Amino acid sequence: MSESAQCIFCKIVRGEIPAVKVHEDERTLTFMDIQPASPGHALVISKAHAPDLLEIAEPDLLAVAVTVQRVARAVQKSLAPDGLRIGQFNGAAAGQTVPHYHVHIVPMREGQRAGAHGRAPAKIEELKALAVRIREALAD
Ligand code: AMP
Ligand code: ZN
Repeated sequence: MSESAQCIFCKIVRGEIPAVKVHEDERTLTFMDIQPASPGHALVISKAHAPDLLEIAEPDLLAVAVTVQRVARAVQKSLAPDGLRIGQFNGAAAGQTVPHYHVHIVPMREGQRAGAHGRAPAKIEELKALAVRIREALAD
């Protein structure tokens, strides 16, 4: 069986499992992290399966980078955090839990102590409300 058949993010790309989507284009998909480190935590992934930075094809890497900037600007505009943490892990030893290339966009507040990952699943309705706000800012 191919790596992508069992990959949870490939399943989201194929529509086999749900996600609270924010943005989609030819090469990338952005959705809300189900266990956010802070409100507004979004993930940008390449649609094509690649485990990590070391293996992703350059056109997909560049497309993800462009989407990260667009979504980061939309998060800044819509949620007005004090800072934005942009993160990416390669390999379980580095903290990667889903071996499909993705970049975290984590809004940060002054004095906030957020880890790389959240501790509890968010309420879907809250994720949807945040996604609407980010999407509206993307459309501006
Ligand atoms: P990483 O440790 O960089 O691999 O991060 C994987 C992230 O994916 C974590 O922050 C998880 O909360 C998030 N995650 C895992 N499964 C899902 C899912 N089905 N929908 C949204 N986010 C997910
Ligand atoms: Zn995958």
